[in-house]
Amino acid sequence: RPAHGEQRIAVIGLGRFGSSLAAELMARKWDVVGLDENERRVQRHRDLLTHTAVADATDDEVLRQLGVHDFSSAVVAIGSDVEASILVTSNLLEAGVPNVWAKAISRQHGMILERLGAHHVVLPEHEMGERVAHLVTGRMLDFIEFDDDYALVKTIAPRVATGVPLGETGVRATYGVTVVGIKRSGQDFTYATAETVVQPGDVIIVTGRTQAVESFAELE
Ligand code: ADP
Repeated sequence: RPAHGEQRIAVIGLGRFGSSLAAELMARKWDVVGLDENERRVQRHRDLLTHTAVADATDDEVLRQLGVHDFSSAVVAIGSDVEASILVTSNLLEAGVPNVWAKAISRQHGMILERLGAHHVVLPEHEMGERVAHLVTGRMLDFIEFDDDYALVKTIAPRVATGVPLGETGVRATYGVTVVGIKRSGQDFTYATAETVVQPGDVIIVTGRTQAVESFAELE
């Protein structure tokens, strides 16, 4: 990760995804160059980003002139125009940009971007859809799954985890999950230790294999 002051990133496409991303990066003190061929979209971001430009990003010369080829990171936030997304991603990779992120609107689109060599491919709608499914079907309050079938879940503590110190509940041995954090109503989150006693109604953060964490979160 570059040192402070060198955190320069190009966000190509200032639609809903690119716009939210750019705003969040600005809040994190990154220098954000936003690019879109739509003049109105660029206008809306003019005072919010470090630099903006109205241009067709598929034109490699445009990216070169904006200095994007020397940036450490670029995000291709073009979705529906798949051809443009592929072309821009390929140009950035060809130019040697070390961290190219690309948004895909379908699995096929994502697969092409991966085969091109994009360093990170995100499918916001698919990923959010899967996540919401986990929340809808269970008692989980939040759910994040990592690559290797490993998940982090926020849930109301099942009875088996309450009343005695966590180390004595046998939760890890029985359910294969680890309670890592706890939040009592009106208090901040704190780390859980073997001595922590969870009360009924407490919100806990649990990690483990996705299947194990899901089964655990289903317990009353
Ligand atoms: P979202 O769902 O995040 O709004 P869209 O695909 O609808 O994503 O929007 C992508 C943005 O990218 C739009 O603002 C569009 O004008 C812009 N865009 C598409 N193609 C190009 C291109 N070749 N050069 C620059 N901007 C582009």
